[in-house]
Amino acid sequence: MVVPLLENRNTPHHTNMFYVQVTFICVLLVPCVLGDPTIVSRSEWGARSPRSRSYRRLPVSEVIIHHSDTPSCYTSSSCKARVRSIQNHHMNTNRWSDIGYNFLVGEDGRVYEGRGWNKVGAHARGYNSRSVGICMIGDFMSSIPNGAALNAVRGLLAMGLSQGKLTSYYRLRGHSDVGATSCPGSTLYYILSSLKLLSA
Ligand SMILES: [Zn+2]
Repeated sequence: MVVPLLENRNTPHHTNMFYVQVTFICVLLVPCVLGDPTIVSRSEWGARSPRSRSYRRLPVSEVIIHHSDTPSCYTSSSCKARVRSIQNHHMNTNRWSDIGYNFLVGEDGRVYEGRGWNKVGAHARGYNSRSVGICMIGDFMSSIPNGAALNAVRGLLAMGLSQGKLTSYYRLRGHSDVGATSCPGSTLYYILSSLKLLSA
């Protein structure tokens, strides 16, 4: 159940407080309703072609969560633009072959295809070939992603399990578990286990 906080500005205060409480419970404690996420393909977000690709065998046994450390995005068009800018940064500045992440998730509640399940990413040194890197778009040092984004990640993980992309015993970790970084943000890191519990 995803309760849109921002779309209820005209409702009475006590109603908004109800929404806040329900959202909090949905985000942290119970699975609510988990459907298949909307996946925005590379062609839909206007991806550049990769300079090269490195394939791997599935299933993968690790998932690593990141944040983009950029402003959040809440609409399809702004999230597509953000994903394009991340790809440009990775390809132009970092000189990587493609956007580094396997998937990205916006607070519009959509999943954006990066390198996908079966290609090696560039997101966590030493762990790329054996993990799926999922980037939550935003800066989550002092806030958590909204319910739409969290449910999109859960839906993606559930899809990965049901389609045999992930092993049934996969590990879910934050970038900071495998490298010296503040990514995925201390507040998001605090609730990572809620993503794993609800998706497995
Ligand atoms: Zn990271």
